[in-house]
Amino acid sequence: MNDLLRTYLEALPGSWLMDTGRYVVAASAMAAILALGGKALARRKLQSRRASGRDIRREILASLRSALVFALLGTIVIVGDRAGWMTLYKGFGQAGPLYFGVSLAAMLVVHDAYFYWTHRAMHHRRLFGLFHRTHHLSRTPTPWAAYAFAVPEAIVHGAFVPLFLLFVPMHVLALLAFVAIQIARNVMGHAGTEIHPRAFGPGHWLGWNNTTTHHDLHHEHGRYNYGLYFRWWDKLMETEHPDYRRKFEAVTQRVAP
Ligand SMILES: [Zn+2]
Ligand SMILES: [Zn+2]
Repeated sequence: MNDLLRTYLEALPGSWLMDTGRYVVAASAMAAILALGGKALARRKLQSRRASGRDIRREILASLRSALVFALLGTIVIVGDRAGWMTLYKGFGQAGPLYFGVSLAAMLVVHDAYFYWTHRAMHHRRLFGLFHRTHHLSRTPTPWAAYAFAVPEAIVHGAFVPLFLLFVPMHVLALLAFVAIQIARNVMGHAGTEIHPRAFGPGHWLGWNNTTTHHDLHHEHGRYNYGLYFRWWDKLMETEHPDYRRKFEAVTQRVAP
């Protein structure tokens, strides 16, 4: 058997376990936080509508399928590294901690742009049905919706890491940190309850980040707020929900019933 094909097939089960595992761990952790959050979190629930058990089952099944798609694409990085098309390095011999930090930050900023523009493209009426309708079946998202994509949309998202690695060498741990941040931000965006401190609100010092309210408005209205980590693209392209600031302020100031 071809060497690269063998490398791919040997690495695939581990990648699948990692991609599935991080989804299950992150979504379960967020679901547990919401369940244990008591009144303090209950009063920050964003929609009066509740996701049904059927919604959650659909979100989980679609997310597990996406994790498989991510593994099929992500394993290309291991083959690419072996073949010399990509560089996934260990240790700090060639590049120091500064490169580690800069490459990780760059990966997040580039991913945010990639996500914004592919997301907006998938909202085009010609592409929406095939790519993005599945994700928007969750009108009231739960943490389990983090990877609830149709297969074509999962391919678009899963292609990012191999594409980025074609151009930018990454430390293995920086790549793992990226993946961890990505799933953490993703389940936070779909929590359905505003879990960010007020410092993340518009006008506050961390206000350039997205919050749960930000992405929840996207699900509730089916438009506005296309960004993933940061508000920059939505502000620049004037696609931010006009009510975002008011809603975030209102939900984070609510007092216990
Ligand atoms: Zn969307
Ligand atoms: Zn979403």
